[in-house]
Amino acid sequence: MSAAGDTKPKIDDDALIRTATDGLPVLRGGRCPECRTPHFPKQPVCPVCAGEKIAAWDMPRTGLLYSFSVLHVGNKDGKPRAYGYVDLANGVRIFARLKGTEHQIGERVYFQHAQDHGENEPEFIFTTENPEKK
Ligand SMILES: [Zn+2]
Repeated sequence: MSAAGDTKPKIDDDALIRTATDGLPVLRGGRCPECRTPHFPKQPVCPVCAGEKIAAWDMPRTGLLYSFSVLHVGNKDGKPRAYGYVDLANGVRIFARLKGTEHQIGERVYFQHAQDHGENEPEFIFTTENPEKK
């Protein structure tokens, strides 16, 4: 959605990430205009009301850690990695990689960036450091 006279370049509606005006990355999902349900990634059909006119929609940058686990095997660099589910402020739950391995359920985390290893889906990396306070 853009206001009349908006001269900003159009962003790709299917992109998973865009750079916001403050220079920080933001996850790009979708929202159903009929029932206002947000989702990530953007779905072709609303999972709640089956609406088909899904609009690209910015996800909140912050959320609460719902659950996590630290993997000690299978990492190419041999170092443990933490993965978990983040409940974003709009209710969307995202599977994410967590920076560092010391975490607590319920702690506030912030989207930092995405990493694409070219093998699977990109990893969405969250950290406990608020990137807006730098
Ligand atoms: Zn809907």
